[in-house]
Amino acid sequence: MEIIEMDQLNHGRFETWPFSHNHCLSCGLCSSSCPASGMDEFDPRKLVRMVGLGMAEQVVESRWPWICTMCAKCGHVCPMEIDIPGMVRRIRGLRDREKIPGILRKGLEAALKTGNNLSLPKADFIFILEDVAAEIADEQPEFEGLTVPVDKEGATILTTIHNKLVNTHTNDLKHWWKIFHAAQEDWTVPSDNWEGTNWGLFTGDDDAMRTLTGRIVENMEKLKAKTLLWPE
Ligand code: SF4
Ligand code: SF4
Repeated sequence: MEIIEMDQLNHGRFETWPFSHNHCLSCGLCSSSCPASGMDEFDPRKLVRMVGLGMAEQVVESRWPWICTMCAKCGHVCPMEIDIPGMVRRIRGLRDREKIPGILRKGLEAALKTGNNLSLPKADFIFILEDVAAEIADEQPEFEGLTVPVDKEGATILTTIHNKLVNTHTNDLKHWWKIFHAAQEDWTVPSDNWEGTNWGLFTGDDDAMRTLTGRIVENMEKLKAKTLLWPE
């Protein structure tokens, strides 16, 4: 197996490798703070040490980078301030695209093509939003008249939507909307590119991440919204 040093991994897509993995003290604080430690023998300390020992290729090809939740607890406790989640993300980006976990690959492809990870058509998306709003209004008299302002220009808040909220977790939308309604907030939801989950970020694909983030910025500009609420 070819051994790739981290310096080699810098070549190509990235100009610098900002992670001071060689400063690792092997103290294990990262491992003890990590909620994923032990799954398939994953251990952030081992990951850092393997990278430092020139075994990055094995890490790239392993399941470990995909077990990490990127919660950043490890980086928070590390006395040497090693950016382990940043390292994990960079490692994910080095995996051949056809070898990244299927659900992420398919969701990302769908998001780039259709504007959301589910490939949900615009008409269905709007139907779901209106249906959830009608349910809220029916359930509690104080929310009578609650509507979802789609594509409203000049709103104070533009909110993105996590795909599961228009799929399996529609009830979770209700909490947000009830608060907006009770606070008489001026808000809107874009009808295109509403997806809040950026799997370009999670898969280490910088180009995809920029594209998806850029679409949110375009929505902000197009609808002249003042504040972005990105609950993801
Ligand atoms: S970012 Fe990853 S490695 Fe670090 S604590 Fe969270 S799950 Fe563990
Ligand atoms: S907390 Fe930091 S110094 Fe300690 S083992 Fe983990 S990466 Fe190394």
